[in-house]
Amino acid sequence: MAKLTFLGSCREVGRSGFFLEEQDESLLIDYGVKFSEPPKFPDMIPIENLQGVALTHAHLDHSGGIPIILKEAEVSLFCTPATRDLSLLLLRDMYKISHGRLPFSLKDVALIRKQYESTSYEETMPIGRHFEMTLFNAGHIPGSAMVSIRVDDKRILFTGDFNATESHLNPGARKNLPKHDVVVTESTYARRINPPREATEEALIQTVIETKERGGVVLIPAFGVGRSQEIMCILERANLPKKYPIYVDGMARDVNEILIRHPQYLQSPQALQRAVGRALIINDDRDRKDAVRKGGIIISPAGMLKGGASHLYFKMLHDDPKNAIVFVSFQIPGTPGEELLRTGKVVVGNREFNVKADVRQHHLSSHSDSRGLLDMLTKIPGEPEFYLVHGESESCDALAEKLEKRGKKAHVAELNEKIRF
Ligand SMILES: [Zn+2]
Ligand SMILES: [Zn+2]
Repeated sequence: MAKLTFLGSCREVGRSGFFLEEQDESLLIDYGVKFSEPPKFPDMIPIENLQGVALTHAHLDHSGGIPIILKEAEVSLFCTPATRDLSLLLLRDMYKISHGRLPFSLKDVALIRKQYESTSYEETMPIGRHFEMTLFNAGHIPGSAMVSIRVDDKRILFTGDFNATESHLNPGARKNLPKHDVVVTESTYARRINPPREATEEALIQTVIETKERGGVVLIPAFGVGRSQEIMCILERANLPKKYPIYVDGMARDVNEILIRHPQYLQSPQALQRAVGRALIINDDRDRKDAVRKGGIIISPAGMLKGGASHLYFKMLHDDPKNAIVFVSFQIPGTPGEELLRTGKVVVGNREFNVKADVRQHHLSSHSDSRGLLDMLTKIPGEPEFYLVHGESESCDALAEKLEKRGKKAHVAELNEKIRF
């Protein structure tokens, strides 16, 4: 019987990690970070019999601890080439802003390239004597994968983060998954219904046009990996007049280059090329002031006004009712973005700002909502048993309840719980 240990992302979003053991061999799936003070990682695993590490996607809540493992174990890292390159970028950035307080060095980060073994969607590969792995497109960010492992005569699926709905950047997750006995699934939006994507995109474009027509500047705080590119594609498609310059700040430039190098993971490589061709890149504070003065549409991290350059723009733009600040992702309670949306005021640095700019939210999700989750999961053949992770405690409970109502076996995984199958 195989044994699975839930190392993290139990009743929380952060530090994903799953340790699979069969006889004298083991396999690790994801090993992420939780951004608390100090950052938290899953417990260390015994590495003696480790056969490899599989990574679902580049986001740091899944990849942030991978160098800790690779520096101890000379094993292969399996993920798509896009995930490899995006992870390297994100981990180097995490290292840069951590001021040396992480349990690994930049040299350890480089092991992601050194120990990498090329893996593609839909391709089955043996790992050790007991495991066989297949990756399926997860539709969450470019290169994201669901990891399916056959261990002896059983099959287990780790969904990672997934989105069944396609966007202008990502093709949707693979439909019609094969038979599985166990499914470990994310539950992020198990309590939400997302409005239709087209309506949200239309509303976003409308906000941009209205703001520009009244002579304002639009600030779109957005994460540099995935979300920034998606917004660029949406704006490009809208065919906005040339007098609406689009500026992109932060890590997005490096991400653009990586994605263009891996076109097979994009919904439309041509659309991203066109969007990148139109965008103006911001390099420094002088460019930032210029962008504000020229009245641009500015896409800048961080998505919740915490860190990145978006708070610099915020300080320049908050005081004028002609301007707009448009959030395009879910705002975690306690972040400046959420505070601003809820109260119209926000503390940035040590100062409280009374915001006169028009503050909006047009949420473009990269996760399936409750309907999408249920639809996808209940169609997996083989009557699998579901284990729910990667969600607030209430979201995990809600998804368990919904699956049970449909006659499925569902269980909310607890931290360091072990199961056998
Ligand atoms: Zn993710
Ligand atoms: Zn995640």
